[in-house]
Amino acid sequence: MAFANLKSSVKPFEKKLWLSSPTMHGEELEYIREAFVTNWMSTVGENINEAERLACEFIGCGYAVALSSGTAALHLAVKLAGIKPGDKVFCSDLTFDATVNPIVYEGGVPVLIDSERDTWNMDPEALKRAFSIYPEVRAVMVANLYGTPAKLDEIREICDRYGAVLIEDAAESMGAFYQGKQTGRFGTTANVISFNGNKMITGSSGGMLLTDSREAAEKARKWSTQSRENAPWYQHEELGYNYRMSNVIAGVVRGQFPYIQEHIRQKKAIYMRYKERLKDLPVSMNPYIEGVMEPNFWLSCILVDRDAMCRQVRSEKEALYVREAGKSCPTEILEALAQHNAEGRPIWKPMHMQPIYRNNPFITAKGNGRAGSNAYRENEGQMNVAEDIFERGLCLPSDNKMTAGQQERVIEIIKACFA
Ligand SMILES: *Cc1c(COP(=O)(O)O)cnc(C)c1O
Repeated sequence: MAFANLKSSVKPFEKKLWLSSPTMHGEELEYIREAFVTNWMSTVGENINEAERLACEFIGCGYAVALSSGTAALHLAVKLAGIKPGDKVFCSDLTFDATVNPIVYEGGVPVLIDSERDTWNMDPEALKRAFSIYPEVRAVMVANLYGTPAKLDEIREICDRYGAVLIEDAAESMGAFYQGKQTGRFGTTANVISFNGNKMITGSSGGMLLTDSREAAEKARKWSTQSRENAPWYQHEELGYNYRMSNVIAGVVRGQFPYIQEHIRQKKAIYMRYKERLKDLPVSMNPYIEGVMEPNFWLSCILVDRDAMCRQVRSEKEALYVREAGKSCPTEILEALAQHNAEGRPIWKPMHMQPIYRNNPFITAKGNGRAGSNAYRENEGQMNVAEDIFERGLCLPSDNKMTAGQQERVIEIIKACFA
């Protein structure tokens, strides 16, 4: 069974090598201190105003509403789209569950859309099929996985054709470009970014709703502060939420913004080094379309060639593999990394395979690609893309503080798995 991979002569890292951890610079502490000494320790203050201004300036949107998390921002984006109980919403299948859950907060029913091979994101062909099956759908939620933009123009065009609202979950992709325009600007009304601890820049937590509509920004701001009406007392006409960002958190975000380009450069260097140094192995990197998009390279991932996969089985909560010369699999590589005190991670498990969503409709370019059967193994044409990427892919240590020397050791560990 899962034998320890002791072939590598690489010594374990003394300090854990993270997948993607916060990188602080110093100014963050100054802005936190400023909030403290001026006693703006609540959800109002200069740090919030500045963080919102910096986001608008950097991304090029009209308005940014600072919130407690990206998930809260997605929830308000779903509300702005007018999703009512029972409404179906087309949503990326291969993503983190925070993309999907906010649809359900409003009583909506996520219809999961398979990925394509060029970017691992929502497949426009599958989306077209979905509209042919459910022409009544009026909203689409698209995520840009691991910092790589989806085929946003094609997706937007399909949405326009069917009169559907597009929401862009750019939580992982801040700073990435598609056709010369930054992600976080492709949604019809609302887009979302996140400042969670592992994202490109962080506030330790936090997120923002981005929009060009003054009305939408005002609504989101009002909903996020308990929907208080303009009155001498607490007056409420609609449901409210406590979703506003704290001025302390905003201080961290404010201090991080000047460093986002530096972080992106570091992440890109990591991706390019993996790509170059792993090119003789039977693996490929998470792909993007050159000339069309420039990812932010948030996480570097690899996909093991089908014929270089050793046997690997996964139950709901466990994984096993059989070691085979010249072959490997995500489970073996992740185990080897962990043994060396380095953190990798499986590809996000597709939503259609999750116990909570496995009864939701799942649409692929070719048909109803319901999970659970291994039929696709016998007929490659039937394979759903998301499940295939999950089976053969993994995220590598991508921390922007990882040195070239440390990365070389990671590369040696991976190579030893294929020995
Ligand atoms: C991180 C993330 C979110 C949620 O952001 P939080 O700030 O953690 O709530 C949403 N969608 C995707 C794709 C993410 O990776």
